[in-house]
Amino acid sequence: MRLRAHHLCCSRFWEEPAEERGPAFKRARDDIRQALLSRPEAMIVAVEGADELCQACPLCVGGRCASPRGDEDRVRKWDAILLKELGLPAGTCLASGRWRELIERKTPFKLCQRCQWKKVCSVGAILL
Ligand code: SF4
Ligand code: SF4
Repeated sequence: MRLRAHHLCCSRFWEEPAEERGPAFKRARDDIRQALLSRPEAMIVAVEGADELCQACPLCVGGRCASPRGDEDRVRKWDAILLKELGLPAGTCLASGRWRELIERKTPFKLCQRCQWKKVCSVGAILL
């Protein structure tokens, strides 16, 4: 599985319904959550740029994030900050269980303090 860092670090904490972005996006998000929560042996590589979730997202245009809440450049910055917080470079490939362990040790991330999705995230909500 190839995931950008904020999908790797944050997606299992999101409480926002995925339906509004369509069934393909919901399926991809459910797959990622399942890999992170129930398949500790699944290998996941932290990629720079669009990933498996982006490919199913209607806000991905020409292989780049075009979300009004954070375009590709901003999203890449968040990804880089989260990887730095984990102390790992882009391209790192680890088993899902190992990612989970690292993420649990680091949450809440420093980035959570200024994250615009705090209200719809179980980690962010405790900082409100
Ligand atoms: S395209 Fe943007 S909004 Fe869509 S999943 Fe990727 S990073 Fe998120
Ligand atoms: S509050 Fe933290 S864990 Fe939640 S989405 Fe934002 S950065 Fe990710």
